Amino acid sequence: MKAMVLKKICDLKENKHPLECVNLPEPVPGEKELLVKVSACGVCHTELDEIEGRTPPLHFPVVLGHQIIGRVEKVGSHIHTFNPGDRVGIAWIYSACGKCEFCLSEQENLCPEFRATGRDANGGYAQYMTVLEDFAYPIPEMFSDAEAAPLLCAGAIGYRSLRLTGIKDGQNLGLTGFGASAHLVLKMTRHKYPNSKVFVFARSAKEQAFAKELGAVWAGDTEEESPEKLDCIIDTTPVWKPVVEALKNLECGGRLVINAIRKEDVDKNYLLNLEYPAYLWLEKEIKSVANVERRDVREFLELAAEIPITPEVQEFALEEANQALVELKERKIRGAKVLRIV
Ligand SMILES: [Zn+2]
Ligand SMILES: [Zn+2]
Repeated sequence: MKAMVLKKICDLKENKHPLECVNLPEPVPGEKELLVKVSACGVCHTELDEIEGRTPPLHFPVVLGHQIIGRVEKVGSHIHTFNPGDRVGIAWIYSACGKCEFCLSEQENLCPEFRATGRDANGGYAQYMTVLEDFAYPIPEMFSDAEAAPLLCAGAIGYRSLRLTGIKDGQNLGLTGFGASAHLVLKMTRHKYPNSKVFVFARSAKEQAFAKELGAVWAGDTEEESPEKLDCIIDTTPVWKPVVEALKNLECGGRLVINAIRKEDVDKNYLLNLEYPAYLWLEKEIKSVANVERRDVREFLELAAEIPITPEVQEFALEEANQALVELKERKIRGAKVLRIV
């Protein structure tokens, strides 16, 4: 089968072709696994973190990609839920042990044996992949393959972030950073918490205007003060300044949730601006989001069909994966990037 593989960590500024198109043997499903013929795979920022070594893969070469839509081609001998021909989705959570205290207390995302699709196991930048039956999801019919792919990451993780804020209807939510995940969160909030107001902090006037178009009551620059205190805030930026600046807008007892797998070190010194009395005291909390549980993926897919949320996508051929990654790195964003795989 055709696959785009990463053979070593590299700097995308120097190497614009980090992935190589190779022929790999078609994987063979284990008894509880499905062999999936991939039709679409979303391109995510986390792939940049994998390529550049901020969250390095366990082994090389590795097939990246964790927002996968495909059809079941073959099933293992112990499969109960899916049949050949069924359409399935595969997300960031590839497997967890199922036995540890985290797995047994609805925190499988924190399992020490958590494995990520396309990092710790081969993912969807290929014609085929295998997955445990319990870690594949049926996809609501209303979405095309390309539309459904980006829902599996930005959507599911956005949903988890919103859940972790503990927001109640009527409370104010702030979003700092306004990329794919944040704009999905805005749509979810408007639907699930119709009496809550959303305030958006974004650097560009274009993003601010877009946020208002989607229903934000206010949009301003990262350093601005919001006109009302915020009960909770979700940060989706890769840097520190927005976190520090957002804390001053947080209500007493409020919670700021950082939805980023890694923070870049470029503005780490900005943390020295953190003034304890104004920014953290009075029981303000900071919490990070790590990975997703299967529950987040399932619940979000249902919600996305109900609202409905249909992402705008920009399609690339599998062989154009490097181009899609470089454009993402250079922030040339026109909708979610999705590889079309035939
Ligand atoms: Zn992702
Ligand atoms: Zn576990």
